[in-house]
Amino acid sequence: MIQLFIPLNFLGFVYREIRRALTDLENMLALLRRQPAIVDTPDAKPRQAGAGEIYFERVDFGYTPERPILRNFSARVAPGSKLAIVGASGAGKSTIARLLYRFYDIQGGNIYIDGQDIRQLTLESLRRSIAVVPQDTVLFNASIRDNIAYGNPAASEEEIDRAIKAAHLEIFIRSLPQGDQTLVGERGLKVSGGEKQRIAIARVLLKKAPILIFDEATSALDSHAEAAILDALRELAAGHTTLVIAHRLSTVVDADQILVMEQGQVVEQGSHAQLLAKQGAYAQLWNRQQEEH
Ligand code: ATP
Repeated sequence: MIQLFIPLNFLGFVYREIRRALTDLENMLALLRRQPAIVDTPDAKPRQAGAGEIYFERVDFGYTPERPILRNFSARVAPGSKLAIVGASGAGKSTIARLLYRFYDIQGGNIYIDGQDIRQLTLESLRRSIAVVPQDTVLFNASIRDNIAYGNPAASEEEIDRAIKAAHLEIFIRSLPQGDQTLVGERGLKVSGGEKQRIAIARVLLKKAPILIFDEATSALDSHAEAAILDALRELAAGHTTLVIAHRLSTVVDADQILVMEQGQVVEQGSHAQLLAKQGAYAQLWNRQQEEH
């Protein structure tokens, strides 16, 4: 009996594995069907260099037709200025960044960079003009130097050294056993959230794109790490048009313009001082975060 049980048990295992693989495949195909691949239009042109002005004009967007996320969203970001987007989780903040990068196409309205409709641009030239500091930076199983150079494979050794300095990574790297040749990633040294973000900042510096998106990590950093990142970011933002998807209001205080979003719509807009004076939604968020500290 037991001789029969083992192969049957094994067959059961194989059957379950195959079922699971098929379900994964079905889910993947459903996802592919739902999200048509974004490709260049037949007459797409490379982006013409400009100062980096961004204009979202009455944008409507939903990931699925049944559920609109952004409704009539408009915002203009002047070249070299900093726009911060704040609001509760699920308000649509990261969606705005994804649309600028053209991960999805919008259903209504237009998005322009320097007056050029992003749908008319080649994806390659559009995405080359935008550098992203993501929420969670992926590190490869390679040296920390190679991980930084990934931001621009054509960068010179001097440019990499400068990026390391500007991202305030020098002291950290000097403390490592093999300096910038130390392996990081899954199989190498584990680095903290703050250090990861500084590696991302160094990558962005190397990319030399006019537009910068900073998708702030949701998990709180300790105040020392946060201060170091804020310094590096301020230096980085100089000369870039910057979009900050903010979770902590400490990163938005110096923004030229802050948008407060609720369920896909802008409910307040202004500088930190203007919004505090309004004593509305932003002031409430601010007071709540001050109490948490
Ligand atoms: P958070 O602060 O939590 O990051 P957010 O304001 O950035 O939130 P978004 O990520 O822009 O919010 O999401 C807005 C809404 O869109 C949410 O309700 C979310 O569930 C939905 N959403 C996000 N990504 C997808 C997706 N790929 N497919 C379907 N719905 C999505």
